[in-house]
Amino acid sequence: MIAEIICVGTELLMGQIVNTNAQFMAEKLAPLGVDLYRQQVVGDNPQRLTEAVLTALDRSDVVLFSGGLGPTEDDLTKETVAAALGLELVLYPEEWDRIVERFKGFGRKPAPNNKKQAMFPATCCTILPNPRGTAPGCLMEKDGKAAILMPGPPRELRPMFTDYVMPYLEQRSGHRLYTHMLRIFGKGESDVEYELKDLIDGQTNPTLATYCETGEVKLRITAQAKTDAEGEALLSPIVAEVERRFGDVVYSENDEELAAVCHRLLIEQKATLSCAESCTGGLLSSAFIDLGGSSAYFVEGDVTYANEAKMGSLGVKAETLEKYTAVSRECAQEMAAGMRRKAGTDYALATTGYAGPDGEQVGLVYVSLASRDGVQVKELHLTGERSRIRRLAVLHALDLLRRKLCAK
Ligand code: ATP
Ligand code: MG
Repeated sequence: MIAEIICVGTELLMGQIVNTNAQFMAEKLAPLGVDLYRQQVVGDNPQRLTEAVLTALDRSDVVLFSGGLGPTEDDLTKETVAAALGLELVLYPEEWDRIVERFKGFGRKPAPNNKKQAMFPATCCTILPNPRGTAPGCLMEKDGKAAILMPGPPRELRPMFTDYVMPYLEQRSGHRLYTHMLRIFGKGESDVEYELKDLIDGQTNPTLATYCETGEVKLRITAQAKTDAEGEALLSPIVAEVERRFGDVVYSENDEELAAVCHRLLIEQKATLSCAESCTGGLLSSAFIDLGGSSAYFVEGDVTYANEAKMGSLGVKAETLEKYTAVSRECAQEMAAGMRRKAGTDYALATTGYAGPDGEQVGLVYVSLASRDGVQVKELHLTGERSRIRRLAVLHALDLLRRKLCAK
């Protein structure tokens, strides 16, 4: 089943508003087993809209419309689509009553041109209720094609789409997409693609696709199937094969972020955590505290930026700083150990490094993890802007903890 989206509105075309409706709908189609090949944006112009409607109906099974259902002259989606399908609009008295009632609720009377919003094709039409606005949506079906019209305001379109359109599409397509989103940390996108080339090129169901995120690679494995069991049966051998090839750089099978994995494991293992941060300046602590329920394990997070703070708060030795500087394996080790001692936690993470932009050693970062087994330190040579280096340092610290917790 092929779908196409047409968003109507001159404001949209000219960039005065952002097309969030298209994005909202588009990302929900694949899981419903609907292929989306094209999106169009058309201004409030009857000829160009007609053209768009005719081409879309010709090459797609379902056309989803957003906008142009209002009462004003420039709102002409319904008239245009109905005409393209050869359907005539008539007044639906019960819809008109509903509009009158709605206006009464605001202590007002509808204007004569609100009648437009109660006009629908006499046949081949299903009304889609719009409890948040005056303009109902509608579904017009003719010759195996469907046109689905929804109002432009997102607060009206979104519930209409989820409550009425999604169930319709699912039922019509008769099959669904099942997906596993694997997350990979510690391998670049080109390596991932290279090492999975035979699977990526050779597979049609399931299919594999990689996506790059800061420091991470996501691998989406998607199968088309009619039932949950069939979907899982198609997916699990491929997931297992990827994990066999990549080992523990694959840290999630279901799109769980690194911080969320640590969060879950800390809670499961009833362990506690503290963080001592220099170059990450609170980002690491925040990665945990962003997640509800972190009070179960998160005890303390210190930003010890100056040498005095590293000595005063964490007990880093003056000699260490003098001999090795604050950005050193030795300092990172003392920071984590000192933090763990002070907060009395099972684990303590620490970061120290040069985030740039100035300086000769930009990108040199140490992350460390203290546990009852001692302190592990990892030296990193990161590249990019200050914000990227700080973000990557956080991910490496999280990964250090994730590996430790998984090894338990
Ligand atoms: P109304 O009855 O409000 O006129 P309508 O169905 O005629 O609704 P439009 O006139 O096209 O819809 O758009 C109304 C408002 O909805 C726009 O001003 C804009 O704020 C928002 N809107 C329209 N289309 C989109 C879109 N594709 N993405 C996000 N917002 C949109
Ligand atoms: Mg309008």
